[in-house]
Amino acid sequence: MATPLTDQEKRKQISIRGIVGVENVAELKKGFNRHLHFTLVKDRNVTTPRDYYFALAHTVRDHLVGRWIRTQQFYYEADPKRVYYLSLEFYMGRALQNTMINLGLQNACDEAIYQLGLDMEDLEEMEEVAGLGNGGLGRLAACFLDSMATLGLAAYGYGIRYEYGIFNQKIKDGWQVEEADDWLRYGNPWEKDRPEFMLPVHFYGRVDEEDGKEPKWVDTQVVLAMPYDTPIPGYMNNTVNTMRLWSAHAHNDFNLRDFNIGDYIQAVLDRNLTFPFFEGKELRLKQEYFVVAATLQDVIRRFKTSKRNCSGPMSFDSFPDKVAIQLNDTHPAMAIPELMRIFVDIEKLDWDTAWNITKQTFAYTNHTVLPEALERWPVELMEKLLPRHLQIIYKLNQIHLDVTSLFPDDMDRIRSMSLIEEEGGKRVNMAHLCIVGSHKVNGVAEIHSDIIKRDVFRDFSELEPEKFQNKTNGITPRRWLLLCNPGLADLIAEAIGEEYVKDMTQLQKLNDLVDDDAFIRDVQWDNKLKFAQYLEKVYKVDINPASMFDVHAAPGYHMAKMIIKLITSVADVVNNDPVVGRKLKVIYLENYRVSLAEKVIPATDLSEQISIAGTEASGTGNMKFMLNGALTIGTMDGANVEMAEEAGEENLFIFGMRVEDVAEMDKEGYDALEYYESLSELKQAINQIKSGYFSPKQPEMFNDIINMLFHHDQFKVFADHESYVECQERVSALYKDQREWTRVVIKNIAASGKFSSDCTIKEYATEIWGVEPTDLKIPPPSEPWSPLT
Ligand SMILES: *Cc1c(COP(=O)(O)O)cnc(C)c1O
Repeated sequence: MATPLTDQEKRKQISIRGIVGVENVAELKKGFNRHLHFTLVKDRNVTTPRDYYFALAHTVRDHLVGRWIRTQQFYYEADPKRVYYLSLEFYMGRALQNTMINLGLQNACDEAIYQLGLDMEDLEEMEEVAGLGNGGLGRLAACFLDSMATLGLAAYGYGIRYEYGIFNQKIKDGWQVEEADDWLRYGNPWEKDRPEFMLPVHFYGRVDEEDGKEPKWVDTQVVLAMPYDTPIPGYMNNTVNTMRLWSAHAHNDFNLRDFNIGDYIQAVLDRNLTFPFFEGKELRLKQEYFVVAATLQDVIRRFKTSKRNCSGPMSFDSFPDKVAIQLNDTHPAMAIPELMRIFVDIEKLDWDTAWNITKQTFAYTNHTVLPEALERWPVELMEKLLPRHLQIIYKLNQIHLDVTSLFPDDMDRIRSMSLIEEEGGKRVNMAHLCIVGSHKVNGVAEIHSDIIKRDVFRDFSELEPEKFQNKTNGITPRRWLLLCNPGLADLIAEAIGEEYVKDMTQLQKLNDLVDDDAFIRDVQWDNKLKFAQYLEKVYKVDINPASMFDVHAAPGYHMAKMIIKLITSVADVVNNDPVVGRKLKVIYLENYRVSLAEKVIPATDLSEQISIAGTEASGTGNMKFMLNGALTIGTMDGANVEMAEEAGEENLFIFGMRVEDVAEMDKEGYDALEYYESLSELKQAINQIKSGYFSPKQPEMFNDIINMLFHHDQFKVFADHESYVECQERVSALYKDQREWTRVVIKNIAASGKFSSDCTIKEYATEIWGVEPTDLKIPPPSEPWSPLT
């Protein structure tokens, strides 16, 4: 009854996926059957594919537990500085395969499942994905957790356990419809609830300020924060770190429906980085404070109960030596006034001491310069929800503006640096709060970090230049190569050895293979074939695998729905045109998510990274494509700039204006009509859309898009059009020469080492957090070991 597992047969015995031995396979099979029986209470007559998935997940989880406990014991005994990564999103994707890879169990599990007569891929597909993020920012947090564990850092991810993740996108008649993502419906084998660590979080109330006494926050409403821990295994080092996500539980009369379900779609949309929502959504501010308040209580408990502190008198002087907190964008910014509140109101530190410790503890990562995505909370809302915090922010602002009065005659500068904006209703500028309350501020690619220093936060960087840094984003090679593209990963291991999995700079060795055009061709062909079969199955479209797979990232802003409808309408016309035939197909991949990215990226020939220069902070999709052997057509924006630097500009397809050109154009004014009038192909395309060629039943359907393009296109799409078309001609020419194309592909893969999140995290560790990555390999639980020897 066993079906042949083609992938598996091809997977050679390369130890990047662990060693297969008779013993460990037998043990895994035993564990699998035991869980089927005792955990799932099933026999094989009544099992569903989901049961098989759960049985395997529990079996693999068994191998995590001992390592997890041992790692945490080690942290307790050795008491290293802890790193806390605070994020409102952790876009993790599936855990099963990642766990098998990082524990070195993948080959053995493959063999065990094969011997049991099951199909590993079918099982993997059963895992519900934790959609606790919505794009690059959340995925970055997930890649960072993997790297921090792999580098042996005593790190924790802290966030929210949303009961409903990012919505599932369905396309009906070409339009987007959202469906609730009930990801916890069947239970989640990867988390452990910790009711014993439940903590209260306060909201509303008022500040009691009796004469001569310290202010007190009273009459609050309480929500309980319940922690759920998810293990984060490092790659083959027996380290297992923790991601702790807080879930909201009712207490007294707090209306929890608001918190979790109410206005669900809106709440999910509100998490979108580029959605113009920061006009004061109470639910969102509640969530932001909720995660921060629960996390800081946990951080302080851990600090106080560390072995060192238990023995002597309690002091917070060493706090910044023992705790580093990284703020993933401004979303957890309330941690700054919250830590001040704890220090001053509860721990009774004096203000200046508290402020010095706070500043040395926090660091802030900025993710965008788009004005609509910079958080600004109305003072009125904050006063209602968090009155004591607002007071603290006002006091911080007063002191901060005293400092900035180094420039007494420069009222503009003082106004531009205030934590409180006055124009258009008083609002707290959360980015300013983060800059003032942190010892380091970083952008996420060189060009983005420059823009921050020169432009968006110029006044701040002139005052404290040493505060500002760059940390170019990265991606974990475990998920974004070993997991999603096993054929390529194994081929590389055969060619240059296995070390590259932990040291991606070794990919440079591939430069010796650029003339071996067969090196990668077969793997890419297999990946394309596989993806074509997937499209056939899911979308009922027949694409020619020999055609170029040209992939654009999904738009995520407010015009998204209209643009999606336009894409699907164009697809209807193109895909049914008998003259075009199989030469060109347009497919909108619905419900883009981590597990779909894992399928499409390894099959991609051309990666489109076409933001107008100065608008994409970094991008990480671009890095995944590069590592997996796609060539990039892109502007000199975000990390594309550094990709061109690493691979040589001649090995990317670079087009369009540079940041300086865009700045020049901003001064002189952008007139879309000019381009429309002078570029005949562009004119024809726009006219076709306008005339209803793609929407015959409703010719005006896309008027909003047309209107936007002509009158308020902040991305100036037409301005780069000509250069883009010309660049696509170069792409086509190279694609026809497959040998040359493959040479360039290999050069790109060889140059992608810099974009490992391991490199990024090493830099955060040494240049921001003040901790050292280790090669320490904690022995597995089967071997005796004392943490302090
Ligand atoms: C990597 C990733 C992103 C970020 O991609 P960009 O192209 O950098 O915006 C978004 N969504 C998913 C599912 C990803 O894997």
